[in-house]
Amino acid sequence: MRKYHIHTFGCQMNEHDSEIIGGILEQRGFQATDSPDDADIIIFNTCCVRENPERKVYGRVAELKTLKIENPDLIIGISGCMAQQPGEAERIAKRLPHVDLVFGTMNIHELPELLDQVEAGHKAYRVWEGDPERDGGIIEGLPIRRVPGVSAWVSIIYGCNNFCSYCIVPHVRGRERSRRFEEIIDEVKRLGQEGFGEVVLLGQNVNAYGRDLKDGRDFADLLHALDETPGISRIRYLTSHPRDFTDKLICEIASSETVCEHFHLPLQAGSNRVLARMNRGYTIERYMDLVRRIRQAVPGCSITTDLIVGFPGEDDDDFAKTLRAVEEIRFDSAFTFVYSPRRGTVAASMPNQVPCEVKSQRIQQLISVQTEITEQINRTLQGEVQEVLVEGMSKTNPSMLSGRTRTNKLVIFPLHPEVSKGSLVKVKITETRAWTQIGEVVLV
Ligand code: SF4
Repeated sequence: MRKYHIHTFGCQMNEHDSEIIGGILEQRGFQATDSPDDADIIIFNTCCVRENPERKVYGRVAELKTLKIENPDLIIGISGCMAQQPGEAERIAKRLPHVDLVFGTMNIHELPELLDQVEAGHKAYRVWEGDPERDGGIIEGLPIRRVPGVSAWVSIIYGCNNFCSYCIVPHVRGRERSRRFEEIIDEVKRLGQEGFGEVVLLGQNVNAYGRDLKDGRDFADLLHALDETPGISRIRYLTSHPRDFTDKLICEIASSETVCEHFHLPLQAGSNRVLARMNRGYTIERYMDLVRRIRQAVPGCSITTDLIVGFPGEDDDDFAKTLRAVEEIRFDSAFTFVYSPRRGTVAASMPNQVPCEVKSQRIQQLISVQTEITEQINRTLQGEVQEVLVEGMSKTNPSMLSGRTRTNKLVIFPLHPEVSKGSLVKVKITETRAWTQIGEVVLV
C-alpha cells in the first residue's frame, strides 16, 4: 500500500485541513506514515502568519531533493496558506523545481484531480485566484481522517473580513463563509456517537458565525443548539474577536452545560493608538469592559489572549500600556509574538518599523511579566478539585496521565486503574506551575 506523510505548520484550522487531506489520500488507497522516508507522497501544509514557518518550509522541501533523485516516483506537495499567497506558486516553481503539486486553502477538494495530473507525469498547481464569489464556496462531505482521541475539530466558518493591518489571513483564506447550521449539528452528533467527548469549533473569527447566512441565527444560537448533544461533554471554540463578543453570547455560555469556561480573547496590544493602526476595531477600555462582563457572568472562568510587540510605530509609551493592560487584566496565560511584516498587508509598508533588538527586549519583558501572573493565578488552584477530561499519557512524563480542566489548564496525574483516555475524572491539584499542574485522582 502506498504511504503518505503530512507535515502541518500553523493553527488548528490547518491541523483540521490536514485531517481532510489525509481523508482524501486514504480514500485513494494511501496509508498514513510518520516517517517521510517511507512515504510515496509528502505534503507540507503550510502557514504564513509569520516569516519563520515559511523559511522552515523552503528549507525542509529543499532537503528532499536527494530523496526525489533516489525515488523519482516520490510526490512532493505544498498546500495551505503559504502556497495560497499571491505569486507564491511561481516562487515555489522557481526555487523548488522538484515540487510536483501546489494547492491552495480553497482547493483541497480538487486534490484527487490534481493527483491524476501528477500521476500522469505533469506538475499540478491550483490556487484560489481571489474571486470569493467564484472560489469562495464551502465543500461539504469531504472525507476526514481524524486523529483518534477525545477531542475533534469542527470548522464552523471559513475566512475573515476583518483585515487587521498586520494579518495575512484574509488574503489567503478569503471572505467569511459560514457552514449551514444543520451540517454542523449533524457533524457534532456523529462525533458524539463516535466517542469524541469534546468538540472544538473552529474559525478565524467564530463570533462572526451566521452573519453571511442571513437566517438570523448567530454563534450563540449555534452553541445553544449544540448544548447537551449526546456523548459530547465539552464544547470549546476558537478564535474569537473581542469586538464581536455580544452579551447574548456571554449569557449563552454562562447558562450552558457543555461550553467550557475558557475565553481566548486576542487583545494584541494595550495602546489605543496601536490598536487603531492595527485596525482591531476596539479600544482598551472596551476590551476591559468586555472582560469585566465575562468575569461577572462566568465566575472562575479563565481568560487567555494573544499579544504582539514591535508593531510599526510602537513606542516605549505604547509598550508600557500593553504591560499595564496585562497587569490589570491578569490573563491566565498569553501567546506572545514579535511583529513580523507580511507581504501584502497594510502594516508591512508602514513607516517606523521597530528594530529587532527593541522587539526582543520587549518580548522578554512581556513574557516575564505574564509568566509571573500565570504562576500566581495557578497557585490559587492548590488543593482544589477540578474536573479533568483525560487526553491520554503525559507527553512529558510516561508514568502519568494528562488532561485538561474546563478552564483549559493542563493537569498530569499518576496512572489510575479505573482511568483511561476519554474519562472525566475529579483531580485534586497538589502542585502548581506555570504551564502544567500536578494532581491526584480523587473521584472517578
Ligand atoms: S480577525 Fe484579524 S487577526 Fe484574526 S484572522 Fe482576521 S484579520 Fe487576522
